[in-house]
Amino acid sequence: STSKLLLVVALSGGTSGLVAYSDATPQNSSNIVDSAEPEIKKKKVVVLGTGWAGTSFLKNLKDPSYDVQVISPRNYFAFTPLLPSVTSGTVEPRSIVEPIRNIIRKKKVDIQYSEAECVKIDAANKKVYCQSNANANLNGKEEFVVDFDYLVIGVGARSNTFNIPGVVENTLFLKEVEDAQKIRKSIIDCFERADLPSLSDEERKKILHFVVVGGGPTGVEFAAQLHDFLTEDLAKLYPDIKNLVRITLLEATDHILNMFDKRITAFAEEKFKREGIDLKTGSMVINISDKEISTKEIKTGEISSMPYGMIVWSTGIGTRPVIMDFMKQIGQSNRRVLATDEWLRVERCDNIYAVGDCATINQRKVMEDIAAIFQKADKDNSGTLTVKEFQEVLDDICERYPQLELYFKNKQMHSLVDLLKDSKGDDVKESVEVNIEEFKSALSQVDSQMKNLPATAQVASQQGVYLANCFNRMKEVETNPEGPLRFRGEGRHRFRPFRYRHLGQFAPLGGEQTAAQLPGDWVSIGQSTQWLWYSVYASKQVSWRTRALVVSDWMRRFIFGRDSSSL
Ligand code: FAD
Repeated sequence: STSKLLLVVALSGGTSGLVAYSDATPQNSSNIVDSAEPEIKKKKVVVLGTGWAGTSFLKNLKDPSYDVQVISPRNYFAFTPLLPSVTSGTVEPRSIVEPIRNIIRKKKVDIQYSEAECVKIDAANKKVYCQSNANANLNGKEEFVVDFDYLVIGVGARSNTFNIPGVVENTLFLKEVEDAQKIRKSIIDCFERADLPSLSDEERKKILHFVVVGGGPTGVEFAAQLHDFLTEDLAKLYPDIKNLVRITLLEATDHILNMFDKRITAFAEEKFKREGIDLKTGSMVINISDKEISTKEIKTGEISSMPYGMIVWSTGIGTRPVIMDFMKQIGQSNRRVLATDEWLRVERCDNIYAVGDCATINQRKVMEDIAAIFQKADKDNSGTLTVKEFQEVLDDICERYPQLELYFKNKQMHSLVDLLKDSKGDDVKESVEVNIEEFKSALSQVDSQMKNLPATAQVASQQGVYLANCFNRMKEVETNPEGPLRFRGEGRHRFRPFRYRHLGQFAPLGGEQTAAQLPGDWVSIGQSTQWLWYSVYASKQVSWRTRALVVSDWMRRFIFGRDSSSL
């Protein structure tokens, strides 16, 4: 029985199991192992990144037959939706992070972590080249190479500057925890500087001009947090200069929050205007010097400049250098992010998967598939479908590509159905036939929108869970290969394709008001939604420790206000 027990340990524990085995039985090992027994080599899984995608993969990986190596320059997971709250001190930075070693130590899978950055992926030789963390206070950088059988890339993205001159040198990004800490310090520094006795009011106004570039959810939430911080806390502490403060929000398109329902956009714009936030839509930043920010009105072409004290840049995401280099190697250099198939496997790469903001499912192929479904439904080859048939086609597409459901059903995103309705100038009625060519041209209009799943924590974490479940079932499906029918080509695939379930999204607007757009076009705005936001974000915390910290930060803010020391 001892030998059986030890064999189980050896089989299930991999390297560590073998160590336990030899430690436990140094003298009589010959009794235990049948020398004919083949040594089971664990498959090596390398995970790059400890963000939403990487962490949800690790949390959900249960099969102990893998040897997992995690590589990330950040030895913690950060709950990014609360980063804007860190900029104002509503929540403390340490409350929203969980050490990755805390997460992996609870796992029954063999997982090792190295604080390092992957600098090169060699797909052909199945190796990743790494460098120890450049930001750590260590002497010199260590370099090392790791082999893999499977690679999971979840390195996220970086802030996108669109190569506009002066952005990197003169603005603050809001992407990482360190960024949020810098912003918080910078806000307080502006106030302390503006309160110095030697300055004129004109100079004070310049210093107290806060500019936010980007009217997406992050830029809007930051502007709202900043406004709350100024009116609820800083105004009391700096009474002489409080009236000199100005917040400007710049957005290149016609509206802020344009991925949300129109009612939310209108409410947010109205609220900001009422509160004195200077909202400049249709205004594109073209240059930033150390003193002024220059913009161009998109409609009129007029160029103007204004002085500023602090700029926060939040205009979306760009590709990390390591991914750009990898994309070049595998012939994807014409793309913005890594293309994967519906099983999240990087195209043309065996055993390499990509999840989260650094990747997207290659929609070009999806478009071809959709056209094929349509062709198949057009049984009599007439070039038209009845509305009923068309509806079935849409249902079929949504069944296979659930992530596209949003585009079909969400009116704000100009769904295909809406486009078809628009092109007929009337509601689609049962008797009206849908023309295939119209469908295709409508399809091409939404093509660019469909190219990307939203770059959100929701998508990243669902992809991590999906991929972990595939890995957990890898052995089971090998013995029972009858998986679901393949969508493209013949035969079956081992797993169902990734299915994104959109659970809705929040837009916190400050002053204890939040807007939410939930599935089924359900919109809710106000204080009660703010309480929903509190409960959802408390429940979504990665551990009980961070949950307790975040909730106590919220209570501290309610009772004592925010801390304004420039630490
Ligand atoms: P990340 O979470 O960014 O993680 C990337 C990981 O890779 C990090 O651990 C990083 O250190 C590591 N890494 C980087 N380079 C390397 C390398 N070379 N080698 C190895 N590791 C590397 N989404 C929502 O759904 N709801 C929200 O409310 C929301 N609010 C947001 C607010 C802010 C301020 C920001 C910035 C984002 C917000 N998002 C929100 C978006 C969400 O954070 C991202 O979509 C999500 O983080 C993507 O997950 P990821 O795992 O792909 O990347």
